[in-house]
Amino acid sequence: MARLVIVSNRVPPPRAKGAQAGGLAVALKEALGRRDVLWFGWTGQTTETPGLPHVTHAGTRCYATADLSPPEERLYYTAYSNGTLWPLLHYRSGIFEFERSAEEAWRAVNARFAAMLVPLLEPDDVIWIHDYHLIPLARLLRGLGCTQRIGFFLHVPFPPTALFAALPRRDAVLQDLAAPHLVGLQTEQDAIHLRQALAELGLETRVECFPVGIDAAEFARAAIKASAQPDVARLRASLGDRALILGVDRLDYSKGLPHRFRGYAALLKQHAQHRGKVTFLQVAPVSRGESAQYRMLRRELDELAGRINGEHAEYDWMPLRWLTRPLPRSQLAGFLRHARIGLVTPLRDGMNLVAKEYVAAQDPEDPGVLVLSRFAGAAAELQGAIQVNPHDPADITEALHTGLTMPLEERMARWQHDYTAVAKPPAGDWAQSFLQALAA
Ligand code: ADP
Repeated sequence: MARLVIVSNRVPPPRAKGAQAGGLAVALKEALGRRDVLWFGWTGQTTETPGLPHVTHAGTRCYATADLSPPEERLYYTAYSNGTLWPLLHYRSGIFEFERSAEEAWRAVNARFAAMLVPLLEPDDVIWIHDYHLIPLARLLRGLGCTQRIGFFLHVPFPPTALFAALPRRDAVLQDLAAPHLVGLQTEQDAIHLRQALAELGLETRVECFPVGIDAAEFARAAIKASAQPDVARLRASLGDRALILGVDRLDYSKGLPHRFRGYAALLKQHAQHRGKVTFLQVAPVSRGESAQYRMLRRELDELAGRINGEHAEYDWMPLRWLTRPLPRSQLAGFLRHARIGLVTPLRDGMNLVAKEYVAAQDPEDPGVLVLSRFAGAAAELQGAIQVNPHDPADITEALHTGLTMPLEERMARWQHDYTAVAKPPAGDWAQSFLQALAA
């Protein structure tokens, strides 16, 4: 089988297990199997004058990672990828920022990556590039004479054309997106938007949707195993017989956390029977802390959390537990299993794997209820969830009340629907279907 070359902004450390592995590494794990793989990307580190990539081998895997210079990190990563593309692709035209120098640096880093990658390539490699940081890479590789098959996957949403048109110099970005043989997106809606944007410029390439999934059976096993661990026992002891509402996200403004907090606060006010009977645990490790938007969000949430607890707590009950550190994956699965409500309300999300993990983690005999934003990619599949408009805290309040009072029979029926959806694609199906389509 041809070697697979994966290119992504961040590369998982060779032997990282569980907690450290990012979503992409987890999703690819099954599909990679014993195949020869070269994984290329940024080390996550900066040095004043970055040189050639560091190459390490681990079995059939080869990792080639390169540093960025501090200005490259600031412009390519923080300013353009996370300050321009991330908000715009999540439909946030109001907060995206644009600076030509940042866009130019983004292109320059992609050009430097292309130049470093070419000497490492073999003629029959299959190249799979991931995410918005690396949109220009396929066209740059072509320009350097690469004839290999190249696929690209966009893990975030793609907005309607009128919104995407706000991006300065968007034509070049669309030309970049037309360069791979195949572009994959999370949902059919994203694929439709991208096809329309390309068609407006008379550009064309194959654009298809491949919803990323999880290994549901394995996650379920991990959740059962974790439930027997001391951490989960401690959590349960700390809750007593209170129902757990659990939110697990990166600390990001796309996740709708302030609306979620307000929806919960209103539950305590308007449905007094839940006072003292529920605990909301929100875990949101700080991400992209170097950017002002993220620091502001954190301050807003710290303040909201303090206010909610100040207003509603009793001397023996804290309604909201707010953690800005990550949880180890093994612990997370056990916590999800114990949660009566999985609260997943992003304003916009490419897929949202936490929603699928919550479903997989439930006890089939006594499942909890998923409250899910209808603007998460996962909403297309998880029709058994209580779906809400995440911009409306009152909708979240009602969904929480409905979920907390839902009879077992209905919980089981809804969960059964969603578990079937989550477990249907076999593990590794997402990557395999993409690679098969790319080979065809
Ligand atoms: P995003 O890619 O925007 O971070 P996802 O919902 O797709 O959102 O999450 C990716 C992965 O990160 C999931 O597998 C999830 O379990 C994990 N994750 C998210 N938040 C946390 C957290 N607070 N602690 C540990 N793992 C987390």
